Amino acid sequence: MAMTFYTGGDRDRPTFEISVDDPGHGRVSLRRLDDRYPDDDGNQWGDDAPLFAGPELGNLLRIVTNLAGGHDERGGVPSPVFVVSSAPVAVRGTTGRRFMLGRPEALELLPALTRAVILATAGQDRYERVMPNDAISQAPVCVYCGEGAGDSDEASTISGWCLEHGHTPFGTRPFVSWDQARADYARAHTDVTWSNIQHEQDRDADK
Ligand SMILES: [Zn+2]
Repeated sequence: MAMTFYTGGDRDRPTFEISVDDPGHGRVSLRRLDDRYPDDDGNQWGDDAPLFAGPELGNLLRIVTNLAGGHDERGGVPSPVFVVSSAPVAVRGTTGRRFMLGRPEALELLPALTRAVILATAGQDRYERVMPNDAISQAPVCVYCGEGAGDSDEASTISGWCLEHGHTPFGTRPFVSWDQARADYARAHTDVTWSNIQHEQDRDADK
C-alpha cells in the first residue's frame, strides 16, 4: 500500500511530500512544496521531483541525518572532524532534479524520512511491526517468506513450509518459536479484556 508523509511547515502548508509508492522496493520520492531555493538551472522546482533508490536512498538518509545534527556534509563526504555547519547542501537523487537542502529542513525531514526509508526497504509487513498502528494487525510474520501476514487473527496460522524449514517470526526475541510468538501476540491483544475480567472478579470478591 503506497504511503505519503507530509513534513515541515505547518499542517496546512507542509514543506515536503515524501512518497513510498511501492513499499519494499527500495524507492522513495521527495517533492518540495515550497520554493525556498531555486534549483541549479535557476528555475523553481517543477514536476521533476527526485527519486531515491538503492544506495542513493541510504545516502539521502545519511545526508539528512548529518545536516540535522549540524555535521559538515560538504561534497557529500562525511568530515572526519564534525564541523557544525548550516550551509545548504546539494542533494542528487537517482533520477530527477538536484536540489539544495538546508539544516532547518533536514530537522523537519528526518523523522518522516526515517519512517519512509523503513517502509521502502523493509516493506509494509515489517514496517507495521516496527511502527505499530493499533488499527492494523501485528500478527507474527515469517522473516523469510512473509507467511502469517494478514488482517485477521487467524492469519497467525503458520504454514507447514515455515515450520519444516525452521523459518522464524520477524521482530521477536531471538530463538522464539511460532507457538511462543503467537501466544505473545494473543496475550498483547487480550490484555485489556483480561484486566477487565480480573477487575470484575476482584469487585465480586469484595462483595
Ligand atoms: Zn516462512
